[in-house]
Amino acid sequence: MTKNSTLDRLEPAFDRFQEAHFWIHGLERYYHQAEPFRWHLNVFIKAIKEIVPLVRKALQNESGFKDWFEPFGEKLSADPLLRHLFKNRDYVVHHGMLALESSGSLGITEGRGIKLGLNFPVNPNEDSDDAMGAFIRALAVNGDFLGFLAEDEDSLPCVERYWRLPGIDEDVVDACARAWLILGETMAAVAEWCGIERPQFNLQCRHSSQQLHFKVYNRKSLRAKLLDLRAQPNFVMAADAHDAAPLSMEDEN
Ligand SMILES: [Zn+2]
Repeated sequence: MTKNSTLDRLEPAFDRFQEAHFWIHGLERYYHQAEPFRWHLNVFIKAIKEIVPLVRKALQNESGFKDWFEPFGEKLSADPLLRHLFKNRDYVVHHGMLALESSGSLGITEGRGIKLGLNFPVNPNEDSDDAMGAFIRALAVNGDFLGFLAEDEDSLPCVERYWRLPGIDEDVVDACARAWLILGETMAAVAEWCGIERPQFNLQCRHSSQQLHFKVYNRKSLRAKLLDLRAQPNFVMAADAHDAAPLSMEDEN
């Protein structure tokens, strides 16, 4: 028997659950832009935090629901990942900003992983583009002695980046996806309790880890930036600077 009106009352909870899914893709989309990334994380956590209260509110007068839901509610409030995420959310409410940690390196990639990676600090407040810009400035001054910008058809310059939240070991987007799936288990059970076929929630639509963590750059435009810097009237190159290969705007091949 489908309790239609019951299901209707659950709509706000499922809407919030869907909204959280949408924010996960926002996190993927803005992974290399510090501010929008943080903002999306903020609304993601807000959305998932509202799901269980909305379920409870929708079904509180439904006979038998409270007792049936009790173990789910307990399991969710004891879940270490959800606890950490919600704690971070409380931190935002009181301190205004999520305290995100960011790490990364710059290098070249051949499509999988990083080759010639240099650890280079990627500040949590800056975009990956800023880190790349600072790196190009460093190369302009000190010389591209590793041949980072030398012509190579098989590889692309890249920033590899990771985000973490205090208390959570895994990457932020992985953690959010896992949190969503944990809540999905409960939402599926609730839907089933309401008499519909148990839905299967998955996140196969997520970006691959390579797509997420790597931002690739066009070598020629980076070289143009470096040459522009060196062409500025006040530019001073380090005394022992040298480039591994001549850097010009002509294609060598
Ligand atoms: Zn999706």
